[in-house]
Amino acid sequence: MAESQSCIKIDTGKVGMSSMAIPTPGPGQALVRTRLSTICGSDIHMVDDIPELPAGTPMGHEAVAEMVDAGDGVTSFRQGDRVVTCCVFGCGICARCQEGTTQICERYAPMNLLFGAQGEYYLVQHAELNMAKVPDDLEDEAVLFATDIMSTGFGAIERAGLRYGDSVAIFAQGPVGLCVTAAPG
Ligand SMILES: [Zn+2]
Ligand SMILES: [Zn+2]
Repeated sequence: MAESQSCIKIDTGKVGMSSMAIPTPGPGQALVRTRLSTICGSDIHMVDDIPELPAGTPMGHEAVAEMVDAGDGVTSFRQGDRVVTCCVFGCGICARCQEGTTQICERYAPMNLLFGAQGEYYLVQHAELNMAKVPDDLEDEAVLFATDIMSTGFGAIERAGLRYGDSVAIFAQGPVGLCVTAAPG
């Protein structure tokens, strides 16, 4: 079976590179090849603060990728399409997904974080819902944050119901806080 390199959790506080079998996409899944990935603050929690997360878990949930293969039911994407993949996946069918809050999907949450985006290849669940094509005129670097950091910041503004002209205080100007600051009302 073909193998690829992936960053994995080795133990609490420790990550490293390891060979992993390249998965075969099942129904609704897409296999993608990573083009550009990030290290997120959540990765630190995975490695340092969640001992239940087993050794060998592939790391990374934010990436721009290229679709390599897909299972039955994935019809909106072609091989070679450049895509962003959502950091948390939903089923697309439950009430939470239907109202647009896939992060609290009734079928998968809270175990619905994407894993493996810091490897050469990873699987996207329910790709028709949790993956989006990148327009040709946008560089990888311009869309990378759409997978988590930017959408988290923009989502905070949306959920607060804020509009242009509202006065707000935004605490902590880390990457997410900066995206809240930059988010349109
Ligand atoms: Zn993240
Ligand atoms: Zn759902």
